[in-house]
Amino acid sequence: MATVNKTAHTFDKARLDALLNRRFFYAPAFEIYGGVAGLYDYGPPGSALQANLLAEWRRHFIVEEAMLELDTTVMTPAPVFEASGHVARFADWMVKDTGNGEVLRADHLVKGVLQARLDGDKEARGAAPVAAAAGADDKKKKKKVKTVAVRLEDAVVAEYESILAQLDNYSGPELGALMRTHAITNPGSGNAVGEPQQFNLMFASSIGPTGQHPGFLRPETAQGHFLNFSRLLEFNNGRVPFASAQVGRAFRNEISPRAGLIRVREFTMAEIEHFVDPLDKSHARFNEVADVELVLLDKYTQAAGQSTTRRMTIGAAVKEGVIANETLGYFVARIYAFLLHIGIDEKRLRFRQHMANEMAHYATDCWDAEIQNSVGGWTECVGCADRAAYDLTVHAARTGAALVVRQALKEPVVEERAVAEWDKKALGKTFKGDAGAVSKAVEALDEAGLMRLKGELAQGPAKIRTADGKEFALESTMLAIERKTFKTSIREFTPNVIEPSFGIGRILYCLLEHSFWSREQDVERGVLSLPTVVAPTKVLIVPLSARAEFEPLVREVSLRLRKAGIHARVDDSNTSIGKRYARNDELGTPFGVTLDFASVQNRTMTLRERDTTTQLIGSIDAVIETVIALVGGGLDWAAACGRLAAYDGVQAVEAEAEA
Ligand code: AMP
Repeated sequence: MATVNKTAHTFDKARLDALLNRRFFYAPAFEIYGGVAGLYDYGPPGSALQANLLAEWRRHFIVEEAMLELDTTVMTPAPVFEASGHVARFADWMVKDTGNGEVLRADHLVKGVLQARLDGDKEARGAAPVAAAAGADDKKKKKKVKTVAVRLEDAVVAEYESILAQLDNYSGPELGALMRTHAITNPGSGNAVGEPQQFNLMFASSIGPTGQHPGFLRPETAQGHFLNFSRLLEFNNGRVPFASAQVGRAFRNEISPRAGLIRVREFTMAEIEHFVDPLDKSHARFNEVADVELVLLDKYTQAAGQSTTRRMTIGAAVKEGVIANETLGYFVARIYAFLLHIGIDEKRLRFRQHMANEMAHYATDCWDAEIQNSVGGWTECVGCADRAAYDLTVHAARTGAALVVRQALKEPVVEERAVAEWDKKALGKTFKGDAGAVSKAVEALDEAGLMRLKGELAQGPAKIRTADGKEFALESTMLAIERKTFKTSIREFTPNVIEPSFGIGRILYCLLEHSFWSREQDVERGVLSLPTVVAPTKVLIVPLSARAEFEPLVREVSLRLRKAGIHARVDDSNTSIGKRYARNDELGTPFGVTLDFASVQNRTMTLRERDTTTQLIGSIDAVIETVIALVGGGLDWAAACGRLAAYDGVQAVEAEAEA
């Protein structure tokens, strides 16, 4: 197979954006009304690409792991997010420009200004700025914070680098202090900014005509899984581990979304909640991934102000405690495999562990799959968090529902413990309406508390305080406290949750960047080397001429491909074949079949591959068979070259001359 000389190193963001816009991969929503920041519509190729990504996601996770798929509502009553902690804590820190009132995200402001100063220092020293990797040219043009070539002291450079490495770990007041210490102002206006304030990212709404039921658009699909836990458990015959999965929309009122698909206010998420016994977080299939080697950036390295990564196998990472447990490690490896499978560049993918302050309020350990791109640098595209028992516990406490697993024990457990036995009549008569609260207060005592109370009652009346703070006097005639033997054959526990959470738009955008390049001989026209499994259209059918005798063949080939379930499109526009192929290279269409005069005469057809532009020829039947195998993944292009003859352009010309 011919090697492809991809000029990807000359990545040009402006060209990619123009292509994506021209070919309607996606575009600003409500554009003719002026648009709204952070809202986008996907056009035909963008929608097909997303659908194909999701189909692969379902195959890779739901089918492969026999997960239970859900589709739960977006609109959520407020008590759910009060219990989950989102009302109090799902927030970012923002600052206001003291002059013009512009609102900026505090961490983004610090990052932008310090990075620009570091770039300025590099320029002053005569070195290329940090952004000189992919997209540097465009970044310079578009960068909101202007780079000025000013030399910094070495100690200042080290300090800025250390701050940037730990940026996600700072609280709001700490970001405020950084802004004061380093004289950070709004680069757009030069004005000072105020103290960081928390801004809740959820969109508030109300349910019903009277508006008395406050609600929110969900910022993640996860709560829908947790609230249905009991049904899911029953569906799974009462056993853990199992995982639920959901693809759906999420909404976040981002403070100032200016990063294309990387930061939007409405997006598609694909989330998995894997419910597991907290005492056993091993994974039955861990050995299948133990040798997978990937690039990790752990929290200790970042806390030391560094961003040096290390390559490790998942097996070693779990063994050495870098990744907390097998189940978390298993999913990190599966996420890695998925991202490579759909076409993410391995060299631009790493897993970064969250630092303590950065962790979401529900998580105990978290690893992000970060994909490098020209817009956000290393950007979180998949979060993989151990949410422990947080969510099920808070929802059970709020609703009284038993969100637990009951497991039959192999050996019953026999234990002795103190219990209070009431004289119900005396209890009711003495405390009347407070009787329930009094008995609850006694039940809430632990073993030591009960034994203390027993001792006190032996001396005379003893005091007990109820949950609402009232005090009551108990007497030994009302209750007896005795140690009794209990036999249990059921273990009851709240499972822990490992959650891989995918932002599909971010992955889709990074994939487009990683797939984009242009041929040296035609830099104006880009190529999207999307893997066949996710490419929006798989095959382009190109009739050489609009003459009537081509029509039956076009219909036949098109119908046969469609019958085989292959997404094919006919391009019978009035332009040259070369232009038609180039247009489809931009759409990422991996294969093209051409019907020429030889096809009409001899029933032959040529087959072109997008990346190499090499062409093969064979009978229509043989080419269709080859295309079906190529698209199905059973054949690669090198093998196809062994099946069909190379096309040198002569056959068609000869046939045309004869016609
Ligand atoms: P989180 O729950 O914050 O860990 O987010 C889960 C995933 O959703 C992230 O890994 C991102 O891929 C995606 N995501 C979060 N916020 C946004 C956003 N504003 N725009 C696009 N994708 C997002």
